[in-house]
Amino acid sequence: MMLARSGLLVEPAPSLEVIEPAELSSNENPLGPAPKAWRAILESMGRASRYPDRDCSFTEERISQYLDVDPGNIVLGAGAFGVLRLIADSFMKPGSEVVFADPSYPMYRYFTHRKGCTPVIVPLTPDYRHDLLAMADAVGQQTSVVFVCNPNNPTGRPVSHEELIEFMDTVPEHVLVVLDEAYFEYACGPDMPDGVDWVRAERNVLVLRSFSKAYGLAGLRVGYGVGPEWITSALRQVRDPFTVNCLAQLAASAALEDRAHLEAVRGLNEYVRDEMCAQLERLGLAYIPSVTNFVMIQCGGDDIAITEHLKDQGVRVRHGSEYGMPGWIRVSTGTLEQTHRFLEELASLITAQDQEQEQGPTEEPHEEDAHEQEPEQALLVSMGK
Ligand SMILES: *Cc1c(COP(=O)(O)O)cnc(C)c1O
Repeated sequence: MMLARSGLLVEPAPSLEVIEPAELSSNENPLGPAPKAWRAILESMGRASRYPDRDCSFTEERISQYLDVDPGNIVLGAGAFGVLRLIADSFMKPGSEVVFADPSYPMYRYFTHRKGCTPVIVPLTPDYRHDLLAMADAVGQQTSVVFVCNPNNPTGRPVSHEELIEFMDTVPEHVLVVLDEAYFEYACGPDMPDGVDWVRAERNVLVLRSFSKAYGLAGLRVGYGVGPEWITSALRQVRDPFTVNCLAQLAASAALEDRAHLEAVRGLNEYVRDEMCAQLERLGLAYIPSVTNFVMIQCGGDDIAITEHLKDQGVRVRHGSEYGMPGWIRVSTGTLEQTHRFLEELASLITAQDQEQEQGPTEEPHEEDAHEQEPEQALLVSMGK
């Protein structure tokens, strides 16, 4: 009976999309968890009365086999965020300097402040990539940790192999380099450096990976770090027992086995991303070419108002202001249907704005007129191309 039930439930429920908003703000996986992970979750529900493996050894071993490294090189956490926290607790000494890019993943700044460290912030290059030369220059005697988000959230751009090799050769050994590869499964390919290579070379590096993005398990909170043993053992020392629950551990192990699902996820992502970019070009909107499952789009006007307007239409996206990029919105690739919904709403905003411009102001607006202006109209006026 259990099997029959799980057999039914492994199919994602498409009817949900009709009533739910198109959730394109958090880079989640629109296809959901892999069928094998789904089944593992259902079949392990009865274990909810038992404590999980406190050392996460089963799952860490599975991941180590998957990556062909030693089990001691893996440290599991409650999401990549949970591993970031372990890094903060064991390596970000109060008063030390922490180097990271801007705009990038906001949690580097969050932990830097929380730990009483000094942020050393390096702007991205004009083409929205990490400026690794400048970041290497920013590293000094006081630096404890450098974060490299590759590919970068929110800009979706990777650094090249050569750039990362040069950077890793320049950074002094006392500095821990954290390579945040939360989007690795989407981006990986011949041009994309694999941080685990530096772990194999025994460098002072920790690679962050997540089950929240391509593996579709964001709600279960599971991710991992890959590093040389002296780093992973330090992280394990500050990890609380039982931080990764049993469903998350078993689902993560099972997800790794489901290569077919991962391929489907990658295939859909590329298809939908191409479609989105082609439409954006037709609309005359600039965007940053992305190797991830999200695209940063230049909407020109008030990104916060546009995000609010889209939310009212049932489409959730992230405003760039949150990342210090006003005039931009970050949009995850959803299903084709969700992405079309987003593009239709965006197109109608732009069409309305064009009409507004064509008609032009017939006369100078009076003070009273400005007050009477519909909120939507105010939004459209503010939106440039
Ligand atoms: C989503 C994300 C994470 C965190 O992922 P979790 O595993 O859900 O904690 C880490 N880094 C980057 C760059 C992300 O975008």
